[in-house]
Amino acid sequence: MKKSFLSPVRYLKGIGPKKAKAFNKLGIYTIEDLLYYFPRRYEDRTNFASISKLKEGQAMTTKAQILAKAERMSWRKRGFSIIELAVGDNTGKIYCVWFNQPYLKEYFKVGETLILYGKVERYAKRLQMNSPEFEIVVEDNADSLNIGRIVPVYPLPEMITQRNLRRLIKHTLDEFLILTTDSIPYDIRSRNNLLNLAKALLNIHFPENRDMQKRSYERLSFEEFFLFQLPLVIRKLRRKEKQGIAHRIEGELVQNFISSIPFKLTKGQEKVLQEIKLDMAIPQTMQRLLQGDVGSGKTIVATIAGVIAIQGGYQVAFMVPTEVLAKQHYQNIVYRLSHTAYRGRKINTALLTGSLGKKEKERFYQEIKEGKIDLVIGTHALLEEYVEFKNLGLVVIDEQHKFGVGQRALLPKKGTNPDVLIMTATPIPRTLAITLYGDLDISVINELPPGRLPIKTLHFTKGQIQNTYGIIKEQLRLAHQVFIVYPVIEESYALDIEGAKKMYEELGKSEFKDFKLGLIHGRLKEEEQDEIMQKFKDRDLDILVATTVLEVGIDIPNATCMLIAHAERFGLAQLHQLRGRVGRGGFESYCILVSDSQTEEARMRIEAMVKYSDGFRIAQEDLKIRGPGEFFGRRQSGLAELKIGNPLTQMKLLKHAREEALNLLNLDPKLEERPHLLLKERLLQRFPEYEKLILVG
Ligand code: ADP
Ligand code: MG
Repeated sequence: MKKSFLSPVRYLKGIGPKKAKAFNKLGIYTIEDLLYYFPRRYEDRTNFASISKLKEGQAMTTKAQILAKAERMSWRKRGFSIIELAVGDNTGKIYCVWFNQPYLKEYFKVGETLILYGKVERYAKRLQMNSPEFEIVVEDNADSLNIGRIVPVYPLPEMITQRNLRRLIKHTLDEFLILTTDSIPYDIRSRNNLLNLAKALLNIHFPENRDMQKRSYERLSFEEFFLFQLPLVIRKLRRKEKQGIAHRIEGELVQNFISSIPFKLTKGQEKVLQEIKLDMAIPQTMQRLLQGDVGSGKTIVATIAGVIAIQGGYQVAFMVPTEVLAKQHYQNIVYRLSHTAYRGRKINTALLTGSLGKKEKERFYQEIKEGKIDLVIGTHALLEEYVEFKNLGLVVIDEQHKFGVGQRALLPKKGTNPDVLIMTATPIPRTLAITLYGDLDISVINELPPGRLPIKTLHFTKGQIQNTYGIIKEQLRLAHQVFIVYPVIEESYALDIEGAKKMYEELGKSEFKDFKLGLIHGRLKEEEQDEIMQKFKDRDLDILVATTVLEVGIDIPNATCMLIAHAERFGLAQLHQLRGRVGRGGFESYCILVSDSQTEEARMRIEAMVKYSDGFRIAQEDLKIRGPGEFFGRRQSGLAELKIGNPLTQMKLLKHAREEALNLLNLDPKLEERPHLLLKERLLQRFPEYEKLILVG
C-alpha cells in the first residue's frame, strides 16, 4: 500500500505497536499529525555557553563531560534518592542533581559528553542545575540533527527520547515532504508573505536560522487561524442569505414598556439597543453577541428586545444556565411586564425549569405550542423536544459561556430563523471577539449604571481571618448582607480545604452567632435553593454561606460584602463573576479574598483581582495567565485545538487570516474554483460537519 499523509504512524520505520500507542496518547495518529507535532522550544546549539560563561538564575544550555557520578540518599526524606553528576569543560565545573530518579544512575557513564539545559543556581561556591534536561552526545560526525544547529525540543511521548524523535521526524520529513500539497491558495500566500507548506514544516522542526523559524511559525499559525475562520465566515455568510423576521420596532407596547422602566438607560445600553433594533428590523436573522461586564445591565436590554418581538405577535424564549437565575429573571421581567398591557390582554409568561411537575410542564408545553405564552424563561429544559413554539421570533441566551456551542444552536431551531441574542459577562477584547466569535455580530456595553461605587477587593491570609470577620460584622451592623463562599460543599482534610456545610455550622455557632445564616449549594434540591435565595432576598438571612452556585447573575442590591475562602481554587473569570454579586446597590462594597497559596498562577490571579475591577481587563489578564486554549476551553468551538497559533500574541495575523477568509468566500462561496479545491478538501477533512453548508450553501 502506498503511504500517504494520512497513513497511521505505525507505518513508519522504527514504530511498532507500543510506540504507536504512545504517540496516539498525544493525539498523533497519522503521519500528518506527526509532522504537525511542533517543538516546545528550540536550543541554539551552534555555540554552547562554556561553563565559565553560565549565568546564575538563567536557564542555559551547555555541553560538558561527565567527571564523576554519585548516588546518595536524602537525609530529609527517607528512601528518596539523589543522583549527582559533576560535569566540566576546559573552563570550569558544574554539578547536576536529579531527585528520586534512581534509574538514571545506570544511564550516565563517566567520560561521556552531555548537553544540559536548565536553570543555573549557586549553592555556596558551587554552580548547580537541578533536574536539567539532558542528552547524551554520541560523538559521531553524523550527529548533525542534535549539534551545531538550532535544535528542536519536543514534549516527549513515553519511551521516546529527544534524539529518537528528532531522527524520526527528520526521516519522515525527508520521505513525505515531497507529497505535501499546500491548501492555502497561492495568491493568499504571496499577499501575506507566507512560506509554502513544505518549507514551513521543514523549518519549524529544523530551522535553517532564527528568521526561518519565525517565518515558519507565522505560516503555520496563519494556516490554523485561516482554517479556523473559514467555517465561522461560511456560517455568517449563509446566515445573511436566509430569510429572517422583520420585526416592527416602534409601537405602543414598546413605548409603554420603555417608559415604565424606573431608571434611565446608560449610553452603552442605548447604543447596543440601537444595534439590536437595526438587526431585528431587517429580514435577516440576527446572531448578536452582547458583551458587557457583570452588572452592566444586559437583562433590561434583552427584555426590550423581547418586548419588540412580542409586539409583533412573536414568541420569545430566554434561556439561562441555572434554575435560581431563571427564577430571578422571571420575577424581574414579569414584574416589569405586568405594568404593560398588550392589545387589551396581559403579556403571558412562563417559567420552565427541570423541577416543574409533569402536569404543569405539559400544560406549558401545550400553551407554548398554541402561542398562548408570549415569553418563556427557562433552563436547559427549554431544549427538550416537547417544547414547540407556534411562532418563535427571538431567542435570548444568557451567560453563554455556560452552554456548549451545540446547545446554543438548538433553541433557535425551534423556530423559523428567529433572531438570536447571546449574552456574556466574560467579555474579551473586541478585536479578539470579532475574530473568535467570527460568525456572530458583536455589541459591547462599555459602562456600568451610574452611582456604583467600585468594589474594594482585599487579599488576606488565613492567619488574618479575624480582620476579615471585622469587616463583615461592620457591614452586618449597617444592615447589609454578606456572602461567604467556599470552593467545596464538604471539607477535605487531605487537601486542608474548608467546606461550606461545616463552616456554615461553625460560623453560626461562634463568630456570627448573633446573626442569621443560610446555606446554599448545588446538592440541595432546586426548590430548597429557591427558598433560601428568596429568604436572603427578603432579608430574613444576614449571611449566605455558599458554593459557586452563586456565580451567575444573582442580583441582590443589599449584599455588600463577599468573602471567598481558598480563593486560589477559583479561576479568574469565576472570581470576577462571584465578585459581581456585590456592589449592585450603590453602597460601598467589599470582596475579600482569603488565600495562602504560593503558586505563581494563583498569586497572579489574586493580584489581578485586587488591581482590576473592569471585566475586560480581567479577561485579558486571564487570557495571558492561562493562554487561549485553556481560557476558551473545549466548549468554545475549535479554539482549544489551536496547536501553534496564539490569538493573543498574534492578533494581527489572526485578523489577516479572517480578512482573507472573508475575501475568498465572497469570491468563491462554495470553494468550487480550481485553486481552492485543495482547501475545500482540507476543510472537510477537518470539519466534516460543514459538508452540507459548504457544498449546498
Ligand atoms: P448583568 O449585565 O450582569 O446581567 P443586570 O442586567 O442583572 O446585569 O443588571 C444589574 C442591575 O443593574 C439590576 O439590578 C438592574 O436593574 C440594574 N440596572 C440595569 N440598567 C440600569 C441603569 N441604566 N440604571 C440603573 N440601574 C440599572
Ligand atoms: Mg445577567
